[in-house]
Amino acid sequence: MHEQTLAIHAGYNKDVQGTMAVPIYQSTAYEFRDTDYAADLFALKEIGNIYTRLMNPTTDVFEKRFAALEGGAAAVGTASGMAAIFYAIANVAECGDNIVVAKQVYGGTTTLTGHTLKRFGIEARYFDVKNPLQLEALIDDKTKIILFESITNPSIDVADLEVIATIANKHNILTCVDNTVATPILCKPLDHGCDLTVHSASKYTTGQGLAIGGIIVERKNLIEKVKGNPRYYHFNEPDESYHGLIYSNLELPIFTLRVRLALLRDLGAAPSPFNSWLYIQGLETLPLRMKQHSTSALAIAQFLEKHPKVKKVNYPGLQSDPNYVVGRKYLKGGHSGLLSFEVEDLKSAKRVADSTEIFSLVVNIGDSKSIITHPASTTHQQLSKQELMDAGVPEGLIRLSIGLEDTQDLINDLAKALG
Ligand SMILES: *Cc1c(COP(=O)(O)O)cnc(C)c1O
Repeated sequence: MHEQTLAIHAGYNKDVQGTMAVPIYQSTAYEFRDTDYAADLFALKEIGNIYTRLMNPTTDVFEKRFAALEGGAAAVGTASGMAAIFYAIANVAECGDNIVVAKQVYGGTTTLTGHTLKRFGIEARYFDVKNPLQLEALIDDKTKIILFESITNPSIDVADLEVIATIANKHNILTCVDNTVATPILCKPLDHGCDLTVHSASKYTTGQGLAIGGIIVERKNLIEKVKGNPRYYHFNEPDESYHGLIYSNLELPIFTLRVRLALLRDLGAAPSPFNSWLYIQGLETLPLRMKQHSTSALAIAQFLEKHPKVKKVNYPGLQSDPNYVVGRKYLKGGHSGLLSFEVEDLKSAKRVADSTEIFSLVVNIGDSKSIITHPASTTHQQLSKQELMDAGVPEGLIRLSIGLEDTQDLINDLAKALG
């Protein structure tokens, strides 16, 4: 089936009432037929509902539908994008291990990997996503995962997925791609040899800025990389917290299963059924919306590129952009709604950000409502002038998340604000 059809039907078989819309199963727990059935569920002899911290029928539809769109084997929903990223790492790394992370990542991912995980004894090593050959020097026996974004937020670079996957595969290390900005509609990292994807469902998935959530997707046959691999010994040895279960002996998508059985069980950042229902509504229109976000963003990028007060525009859909060639390989049907541009200095950037009417001054992306952000005075405020340059965030940089309003209205708004 094609994407547009999967977005509307995958993962849902109408319930006994024939309900067309996916019902919200607003329940914490589920009745067991009898004690034998309950015992089988706990022993994984049968898969069924136990408790909403582990699984929920509404969340299950969201997970199955998302996995289908991403081309993966299975998915597990979480209470936020950050929880998804943390669980993807915590599922493989422990005290004494290291992970390799792209320098160009979401701010929360930088603080998680550089500060919070450090307190847990997990070391983060950073590579430039534009120079993946740096990976070779950073990898060792204790490296558990390579984490990067397909389209980076906020620097808007495009990762060369196949080059990174090839290096990772040579060393039998799992790759995890934060595919939030590209969405499964524009980019399919699992088709390019990557093992896992994570998403903040808070962005394009809800599409209207309605709820915080996340999801982890694993590729088909991930087990071939994990089984017997000493790097992932805890998948190959009995799990004492689950009566000696050996994950790699199961004929199931074991990465997301272990996130569910161990991490959701013990750490508990499960999505609410109502939020899962919102993500399902969002997924139904995701293919249509990503087309519109992308066409509108390209038209706006082209307008800005010609504007005399704009020094530089970053958008992978522009032929002048250094990411154009890589983008053509990995992005299909558009380049998403995120772009940035540079004006003369701090003062002019603040003036532009303060004078738009339709664009709201907000630190978010992926909303139907257009958003303008000035990183130097908000998300990157703590950095010095030099650090801003190193992070690829000059003082005059403005980031836009192009919404679903009329493109010409958005152009007129920016034209007026630029003066
Ligand atoms: C927003 C975002 C996150 C964090 O997601 P939350 O749902 O806000 O926790 C992670 N990665 C990227 C690329 C994001 O844009």
